Amino acid sequence: MTKQYDVAVIGAGAAGMMCAAVAGQRGKKVILIDHATKLAEKIRISGGGRCNFTNIGAGPQHFLSQNPHFCKSALSRYTPQDFINLLKRYRIGYHEKHKGQLFCNDSAEQIISMLKAECDLGNVTWRMPCSVASIVKEGELFRISTAAGDVLANNVVIATGGLSIPKIGATDFAYRIARQFDVKLVESRPALVPLTFEASGWQPYLPLAGIALPVEVEAGEKKMRGHFKEDLLFTHRGLSGPAILQISSFWQPQQALNVNLLPEHDVAETLIAEKSTIKKNLGNVFSQWLPNRLALGILEANGFDPAARIADMPDKQLKKLGDAVNRWPITPNGSEGYRKAEVTLGGIDTRELSQQSMAVNRIPGLHFIGEAVDVTGWLGGYNFQWAWASGTATGLSL
Ligand code: FAD
Repeated sequence: MTKQYDVAVIGAGAAGMMCAAVAGQRGKKVILIDHATKLAEKIRISGGGRCNFTNIGAGPQHFLSQNPHFCKSALSRYTPQDFINLLKRYRIGYHEKHKGQLFCNDSAEQIISMLKAECDLGNVTWRMPCSVASIVKEGELFRISTAAGDVLANNVVIATGGLSIPKIGATDFAYRIARQFDVKLVESRPALVPLTFEASGWQPYLPLAGIALPVEVEAGEKKMRGHFKEDLLFTHRGLSGPAILQISSFWQPQQALNVNLLPEHDVAETLIAEKSTIKKNLGNVFSQWLPNRLALGILEANGFDPAARIADMPDKQLKKLGDAVNRWPITPNGSEGYRKAEVTLGGIDTRELSQQSMAVNRIPGLHFIGEAVDVTGWLGGYNFQWAWASGTATGLSL
């Protein structure tokens, strides 16, 4: 006879395990199904193996969505402190690294073991590795056909994440189920991803690969404009580092990024004001402010002779140089794509979902949580906080 559950959660990642544990511990009969052979690979590789599991300052302002208010309810009901309290119960040590980002002292494996233990406390049934062929609504129930046979469930929770890093099991399952049930999607694209440039245009910057420096970067349109003060890294194919990963979520194809390579100096103002007293040449002055290779590279890429005496340069030229450094307009031709993206922007349109339960308003019992939904966090622990919060919201609602 086909087994029946209160809840079938598809996807045993961050959001899926959280949801299954919460629902199970509230007495619901839960089955958790995942096609991967290794549990929660994204948690394992996150934060360089130490998992940046939350951000103490996480709030709705750190998320992108077509419907920015949607995430407020879940985030306010399950806060970073709630997750910290869970970690404390399991005696998992953690530390703050940068701007409120919390990491495990030892390993991301501890988070996976903790979530697994929480599922065990809720008597969650595991079916893994096991692929799901189809989900069909039969009256009040959902029939889930899997490689290990069918199950019936009153509720289905789709927690299969986004498209980033297909080689560790990311699929478009959530989007396919959404289409099948006529649930609207917001167009998806890779985010928190390095940006690339046309090979010939990038040629002058190739020798700069490996250089990192603190910058200010801006991009996006009025409603969704990003501005970050973080480190930027030159690579062989373009730009990376936290500043670029952050701004990639706001950047639209064909748009220019505005990069301030020297946020602490107004180059034109300083050079013009002190022109008569600066004895050094351009190259020497710039090498005081920027890594030497970058200083020379920027001057050459903009047609300035590093040996030129500042005192001899017209103000117009110094202004042009100032713009090149303080307002470097640079237009990427694309990104490294889902292969390298940390997250997927877009997904299930939140206007279709209940803020309380993440259920599709028109289809009782069908829920979407985690990265599959059009709620995308900044870099810095926000995406896991959304996974915990949305998973808990659904777990409590069932
Ligand atoms: P996932 O964790 O991706 O889980 C989805 C699950 O569904 C997987 O187990 C997968 O096997 C399963 N699945 C997929 N398709 C199917 C299918 N067809 N059938 C059955 N099962 C399926 N965020 C942070 O906040 N902090 C970080 O430090 C951080 N570091 C990251 C580092 C990297 C390299 C990457 C790629 C991402 C990182 N993220 C980080 C983002 C974060 O990992 C995700 O936002 C988060 O894991 C999303 O949780 P989820 O449960 O929605 O999806």
